[in-house]
Amino acid sequence: MRLLYEGKAKILYDVGDNKCLVYFKDTATAFDATKKAIVEGKGVLNNTISSILFKLLEEKGIKTHFIKRVSDREMLVWKAKRLDLEVVVRNIAAGSLCKRLGLKEGEKLREPLVEFFYKKDELHDPLICQEHIFMLGIADKKTLSQIRKTAKKVNHILKNFFRAHCLLLVDFKLEFGILPDGSLAVVDEISPDTCRLWDIKTGEKLDKDRFRFDLGDLIEGYKRVLEKIQS
Ligand code: UDP
Repeated sequence: MRLLYEGKAKILYDVGDNKCLVYFKDTATAFDATKKAIVEGKGVLNNTISSILFKLLEEKGIKTHFIKRVSDREMLVWKAKRLDLEVVVRNIAAGSLCKRLGLKEGEKLREPLVEFFYKKDELHDPLICQEHIFMLGIADKKTLSQIRKTAKKVNHILKNFFRAHCLLLVDFKLEFGILPDGSLAVVDEISPDTCRLWDIKTGEKLDKDRFRFDLGDLIEGYKRVLEKIQS
């Protein structure tokens, strides 16, 4: 097993045969990693939730890097060349959208909004437009249009799935990669670290905003997400 990359929340190992092992850590970071903590049990919950969501997407015909969950903290995935792009899809105004455009948190958007951020730590992941994406050579026209279409499809699938389990999908971030066969796939993770999820009935925030803004126990929120999607 060869260490490929250690990020803020995960470690990636090359295990050969075009496959990688993703190890989910207990580290929580926010605000450009200026806020950090070890949250015991977060890795196990994110691996479990991510595995359920990737499996759901695969069943609905979305190509992802997911192969299977192999242990509490580990997921086996196809090796992919990750694009330096964070694709955010929003249904309801929250977070940086409110700050940037002066919208009120909780305002329903007319239609789902897709935004692109340049994944570059030293630049603090700036918001970019499609011309920047072409200029930087991150993706060509055809790939970007496929990314946009897939992101909207994923939103449709996840929004309906969460709604059926009494959760409101406010927004989320996706990452994309190119698999060894040249096809585009959703990679990274899909978890309460990367999605804003509110309890439909009470409006309670059950995602990483609990950590960002000290709104309550993080593990309790993530456990409630898992319980709901398993019910
Ligand atoms: N997000 C993420 N990683 C990032 C930035 C954002 O997973 O590096 C997710 C975040 O959890 C939220 C959505 O993308 O579900 C939109 O985040 P936003 O742009 O509002 O940024 P924030 O204010 O959360 O930093």
